[in-house]
Amino acid sequence: MPTDDVLKNEFKTIILPMYKKLYPKSPMPAELEVWPGDQVDGGAVQGLVYVTEAVGKQLRAIRLYAMAHESGHVATVEQATILGLGTSIPGAGTIVYKKSEYLADLIGLHTIRRCDSQLAETIRGYFSQINTLLGNGDDMHPSGDKRVALMTEYMVNATAPAVTSSSAQGLNAAVKNAESASQTFGQIFRRIWAATVLD
Ligand SMILES: [Zn+2]
Repeated sequence: MPTDDVLKNEFKTIILPMYKKLYPKSPMPAELEVWPGDQVDGGAVQGLVYVTEAVGKQLRAIRLYAMAHESGHVATVEQATILGLGTSIPGAGTIVYKKSEYLADLIGLHTIRRCDSQLAETIRGYFSQINTLLGNGDDMHPSGDKRVALMTEYMVNATAPAVTSSSAQGLNAAVKNAESASQTFGQIFRRIWAATVLD
């Protein structure tokens, strides 16, 4: 299968169903667009998610991370609304762009983790490659080091056992695990949303 078709198929069969389930109000496109380009890149606005052809040359876990990240931009407003944070990222200037990158990473990984925790673990195993691909960052993009550090913080805390009282002993491990992950996600999301200084 041509790489463009692989990407479009993975979006349609893996990433899009996850987002439709968890973010049904977000304006996700029915199809991924693949744009020319030999640099790993992508973008998203309401009703549009694209990645460059270079993404198609990456390993599956990295392709899925890239598509989940871009889709995360489309779902950011719905997620913020769910948390009662309003609909626009607070701040002025480049900090807003940087926050949107961190938030899209968080949403992407949390979405995957809620639907397929094993896939999230697989992606975690490629964080050093993802770090290298993300590089040094710029005015609008935090560095790979910083973005991977935040995703690592999420994964480490999301997989820690939830603190539960003895009355909660009836909860099974899967429920506790899901609670731990969404608490962690919510805490980190709120911290980034409200940050006044970021790099
Ligand atoms: Zn982005």
